[in-house]
Amino acid sequence: MVDKIKGDGAIRREGLYGSSIENAYAGVLSFLRRKYTRDLTGADIVVSGIPLDLATTFRPGTRFGPQAIRAASVQLVELRPYPWGFDPFDALAVIDYGDCWFDAHNPLTIKPTIVEHAQRILATNAKMLTFGGDHYISYPLLIAHAQKYGTPLALLHFDAHCDTWPENGPESLDHGTMFYKAIKENLINPSISAQVGIRTWNDDFLGMNIIDAPWVHDQGVNATIRKILEIIGTNPVYLSFDIDCLDPAFAPGTGTPVPGGLTTDQALRIIRGLGSLNIIGMDIVEVSPAYDHSGVTALAAAHIACDLLCLMHNQKLKI
Ligand code: MN
Ligand code: MN
Repeated sequence: MVDKIKGDGAIRREGLYGSSIENAYAGVLSFLRRKYTRDLTGADIVVSGIPLDLATTFRPGTRFGPQAIRAASVQLVELRPYPWGFDPFDALAVIDYGDCWFDAHNPLTIKPTIVEHAQRILATNAKMLTFGGDHYISYPLLIAHAQKYGTPLALLHFDAHCDTWPENGPESLDHGTMFYKAIKENLINPSISAQVGIRTWNDDFLGMNIIDAPWVHDQGVNATIRKILEIIGTNPVYLSFDIDCLDPAFAPGTGTPVPGGLTTDQALRIIRGLGSLNIIGMDIVEVSPAYDHSGVTALAAAHIACDLLCLMHNQKLKI
């Protein structure tokens, strides 16, 4: 490693590979100090934020999620991620595209704006890692991903909630009905999809494979990984991680916390076991910093995102 940039790699780096040397507590923020740019040339993974919280049903504040996750990510750059032991950016070109701009005061324009945001990125063959915002954003993201990768997709969904409750009108902005819409519109196929960490009731789970939180606690991480891989197989899969999948002890900074959830450790070890999946897109949603304590929720989100990038690194190198 020669001539490593010292400080502000987000705006000073020229290439997309390698890591900069940073004072973790200072400098220009980008996710994991990746280049902050709208130039999509050569990017394997495009990180962007969608700071929308108009669809929440309880506590708001996830519009501040993307910036909190970026801020929490800076400490991770100091060392190679554990237990991987490699620098994912030696082989994986990741940029921070910034946040999707939408007109918050004209709600009906939001869905097409997010779809266009995703289409622009996916047109380059880069994959998306998107930070919410509330969980509604997964619906327009799925529309764009299904256009690109074909319908129906598999969904791997980590959440306390199934988010398949019946919609209140096709244009409704609701963070509890996106996957109802996605199933009804054939964007996802429930029979090859899995929902992990569920612990809220729905009279009709619409045929989704539920791996609920008690099952994960009883059967353990390895059995959970096996079950996920068995359900999804080699189908192209979109991964959506609602941070409230984690127990409120580990992720208090979220809008609709539910006790009995996964530990951060369980979630990270499950993610690390998903290397054989054909993941075509990812989001992490529902981080609401105002309800957080010591930034622990945003830190969990940043670590989950970093592990997802390590999976993508191995996928690129076919490890
Ligand atoms: Mn949830
Ligand atoms: Mn959700």
